[in-house]
Amino acid sequence: MQTNIAPPGLTDSDFQTLKTSALRARELSYSPYSKFRVGCSIMTESKTCFLGANVENASYGAGICAERTAIVKAVTSGHANDWICLAISGDAFDTCISPCGICRQAIREFASLKLPIVMLNGDGSKCIVRTLQELLPMSFGPEDLEKQ
Ligand SMILES: [Zn+2]
Repeated sequence: MQTNIAPPGLTDSDFQTLKTSALRARELSYSPYSKFRVGCSIMTESKTCFLGANVENASYGAGICAERTAIVKAVTSGHANDWICLAISGDAFDTCISPCGICRQAIREFASLKLPIVMLNGDGSKCIVRTLQELLPMSFGPEDLEKQ
């Protein structure tokens, strides 16, 4: 299901700002090996957007995804638990990309399972919105460590 309707908690203007910033974040990508740029934008309650992009490495395993780059920037700027939406875009023009498994878990650490995740294609003409719960069912999070 594709949608261009703003997720709960976002105005149409917020939604447009978030999508545009996720598309532009790809310009920050360092991806000489895959040549596949990914951008991410995390919007906070104050409507600040933290941008991230994939940063690759000659030692491939040392690379980091756009989502985790944005997460690190948000968290180290004092925004660990006030996210209202996250959007990603990739250089795939026919399809919307979705966060990898590691990134879904990384998002889980800081966000509500209701967090809307906006997945865009390369020019933003296609858009799919799912909650973190839908992308990461039966997940393990910080509260599970307290159930011992
Ligand atoms: Zn990832």
